[in-house]
Amino acid sequence: MEVKEPGRKIPLVGSLEGIMTVFKHSLMKPVTVQYPEEKEYTPDRFRFRIFLKLDDCVGCTLCEQVCPNKSIKMETVKRENPRNKRMIYPDVNFGTCTVCRNCEEICPTDAIYLTHVFETSRTKNSFLYSPEELSKPEDEVVK
Ligand code: SF4
Ligand code: SF4
Repeated sequence: MEVKEPGRKIPLVGSLEGIMTVFKHSLMKPVTVQYPEEKEYTPDRFRFRIFLKLDDCVGCTLCEQVCPNKSIKMETVKRENPRNKRMIYPDVNFGTCTVCRNCEEICPTDAIYLTHVFETSRTKNSFLYSPEELSKPEDEVVK
């Protein structure tokens, strides 16, 4: 069976095409974003990092019950709060959270809510946030 050679171009045409491509792209606006110094626009409806207002949480466990993939577990936190006599508060595992917002929607006191914050990198091998960590700004959380 006869094997066809791939089409051969005239020498230099390939090089000229390459030069044209480089020239064309050198006139374009760069698309690289110098993150973290520069940040791209975040859409209004984007949500990720969950926060918790410890003083508003009444320990009803509704957020734990409604979480579809068990990313929330109630933890005991010994702190004075007349609204939360059982002293139980939710923690959140961001490793499994699907950002469905069920916890935010069911919370009767608006204690737990999602925000625009998405920079949650950690050096420890766990994305579990304790109730205290959920109540702090991200830059105050021990990584
Ligand atoms: S956003 Fe959804 S998946 Fe994430 S903790 Fe809340 S209920 Fe669970
Ligand atoms: S965060 Fe809201 S839903 Fe969850 S235990 Fe506290 S009060 Fe209940």
